[in-house]
Amino acid sequence: MPDVCPECHEEYYDYWCKPCNSTRFKSDFDKWTSGNVTIDKFIQDTQRNADYYKVIEWIPYDKFQDIKQMAKGGYGTIYYAKWVDGYICDWNIRYQQWERSVQVEVVLKKFDGIVDINEDFLNEMAIHMLELYQLHFLELQKIQKLMNI
Ligand SMILES: [Zn+2]
Repeated sequence: MPDVCPECHEEYYDYWCKPCNSTRFKSDFDKWTSGNVTIDKFIQDTQRNADYYKVIEWIPYDKFQDIKQMAKGGYGTIYYAKWVDGYICDWNIRYQQWERSVQVEVVLKKFDGIVDINEDFLNEMAIHMLELYQLHFLELQKIQKLMNI
């Protein structure tokens, strides 16, 4: 049985009114930036088509706490962190904001040797996202700064 969206009054399936949520993401496009046009466009495209529990978003570095290096290999470095806000679950109509999970533990990956994040790289990330269900970008440059401390 479909649900009826209390805002647009259309029927939807899988707990997620795609047209309404797509519009919400679009209205926030000017409120964040990765600092990289290619990454911004990629995230915006995925947000226009996001599904329930399948949302990519740009996460500011200050939303991570307790960042600890876990492992370092030839390809990059793995960190543990706590993501303060947690991921988007749903839209809260009453409070008119995204309903988020509680704080979650995450693994951050910093890639060595990637200077130019191009569309091929991002498309590969999208494939991983489908496999992993959720993928969130981190601010690579700030992680690099952290490593130099
Ligand atoms: Zn709707």
